[in-house]
Amino acid sequence: MKRMLAIFLLMSLMTVACNKDGTPTDDPTQTTDGTTVDGSEDTTDPTDSTDPDSDTDSDPVTEVPAPISTLPAQALSFSTNVYLYSPTTYQEDKYDEAVALVKKVVGTEAFRKAVLNHTYSGSKQYANNNGLTNAQIYQSILDAAEKLTPSKNNRMDVGVKFYYTNNSVVGYTNGSITYINVNTKYFNGYDINEVAGNLFHEWLHKLGYGHDSTATTRRPYSVPYAVGYMIRNLGKNFL
Ligand SMILES: [Zn+2]
Repeated sequence: MKRMLAIFLLMSLMTVACNKDGTPTDDPTQTTDGTTVDGSEDTTDPTDSTDPDSDTDSDPVTEVPAPISTLPAQALSFSTNVYLYSPTTYQEDKYDEAVALVKKVVGTEAFRKAVLNHTYSGSKQYANNNGLTNAQIYQSILDAAEKLTPSKNNRMDVGVKFYYTNNSVVGYTNGSITYINVNTKYFNGYDINEVAGNLFHEWLHKLGYGHDSTATTRRPYSVPYAVGYMIRNLGKNFL
């Protein structure tokens, strides 16, 4: 009781002093620091703040949704409409898996970053980029407006025809058809992520992207090759 009184007296003295001096910051800090009351307050303060944290429900809830994603909604809503021309059961099953894999990869932050950060010849760009920036190319993929069906429907619309030829061509297409041709010579031995990469490569032609017809040094940096490789490589993580 005596102690409390003494403290009370001290405190009231302090406030008076503050009011008089007109320097509220200096005097009280010095006086309270010297007293034992302040020391005990310091030790109780952390316990006071941690106790409500663990007790209340609101605090942990606000901490849970911490991961902030910059992934556009279109990356997650990206859909596929892939029509197979009279496939065998093997072809259908395998291709369905590849299409599902494409959807998964497009919906990742890793894919977005890979497309945006691609470099060619020392700068963030693609060879054969149709005059578009990396960001515009990424957006065109999400828009998915094929040249022959040019609505930005956020959906891969493409047909697939299987054929067999004993040569080095994995697949091909051209600007006047809505489908791609897939050589079963390679398709049959491919892993799902390789089929997905090839599908994406061919589909990027449908969006109007091209590349050199011969194996030039810049060809791997074209949109169909570079982004096709991204789908293939990132897709491997899902297998
Ligand atoms: Zn090509």
